[in-house]
Amino acid sequence: MSPPLSSPPLSSPPLSLPLTLADVYRARQRLAGRVALTPLVPSPSLSARMGAPVYLKLETVQPTGSFKLRGATNAIAQLAEQGATRVVTASTGNHGRALAYAARALGIEAAVCMSALVPRNKVDAVAALGARVVIAGKSQDEAQLAARSLVRDEGYAFVPPFDDLRVIAGQATIGLEILEALPDAATLIVPLSGGGLFGGVAFAAKQIRPSISTVGVSMVRGAAMHASLAAGHPVDVEERETLADSLGGGIGLENRHTFALTRLLADDVVLLDEASIARGIAHAYREERLVVEGAGAVGMGALLEGRIQNIAHADGPIVVVVSGANIDMTVHRRIVTEDQYAS
Ligand SMILES: *Cc1c(COP(=O)(O)O)cnc(C)c1O
Repeated sequence: MSPPLSSPPLSSPPLSLPLTLADVYRARQRLAGRVALTPLVPSPSLSARMGAPVYLKLETVQPTGSFKLRGATNAIAQLAEQGATRVVTASTGNHGRALAYAARALGIEAAVCMSALVPRNKVDAVAALGARVVIAGKSQDEAQLAARSLVRDEGYAFVPPFDDLRVIAGQATIGLEILEALPDAATLIVPLSGGGLFGGVAFAAKQIRPSISTVGVSMVRGAAMHASLAAGHPVDVEERETLADSLGGGIGLENRHTFALTRLLADDVVLLDEASIARGIAHAYREERLVVEGAGAVGMGALLEGRIQNIAHADGPIVVVVSGANIDMTVHRRIVTEDQYAS
């Protein structure tokens, strides 16, 4: 699990994007020693079900329990090089936790603005990492405004959760790791919210292996990217409570990068209802022995519900990005002990 820092392939497909594969390799160098090279493990039970090898890319083992440490570390490392001493973000939890951890590791201050809807466990986790926590309003937009005022009034540098090339390049290192461990990967299943994860992973994967299929998975309740793709431009959707709370929030009406990336790179976007997300969480626990949060379980949920059959290349390996572990354990216990979610 220690791939060499190889250079990018010479012939990349001509995507006119503000991101290059070289940016992703540079991100990986910044991440070395700061984030985990996560395991890519076979899932015998999902492989049997799909009739093709299925692998799980376990971002659940990152020190902050999600992949968001990659993008935050890549962005903050660059800001620190440029002399920044304090960073801020507005976050539904995992990005804030990642920012707090990465800032502390790089020796700079962090502030995290969150809406009052963010689950208690996520708020506590950010505070425990030494960040200043600012609870502002009842929506991601209001938290965003609070962060903006810290930038304006107190000299903080803003680190967005997804719509930022440094963040996208950081998340894209997952794609490098997958293709290095499994060069013949045929289908990638990736949780999709703002699109930093999907856009980064799909970008790196398709640069290296243009024939690979990429599928984004969101929840039915408040899938802003899906609605935006359907409309042809970024649109707002109502924020609703969901088991996949890390997939909540809009993509930003002024979206600069992730909407275009997702539109260009997604071969399909699948939406899951709450029962299917719960089924993914329960499967992860019972069959894979993994504690996975709702957002992290949507890929497994999509496979279990037979939603990928038409998209997956029948002959090649399927890789599911299991993006995070940070679930409220009371909710988790309820789901894994309910018989209705048997896989
Ligand atoms: C943030 C997050 C996602 C979605 O990432 P985007 O870049 O916003 O699409 C998926 N899973 C988990 C666990 C997350 O924290």
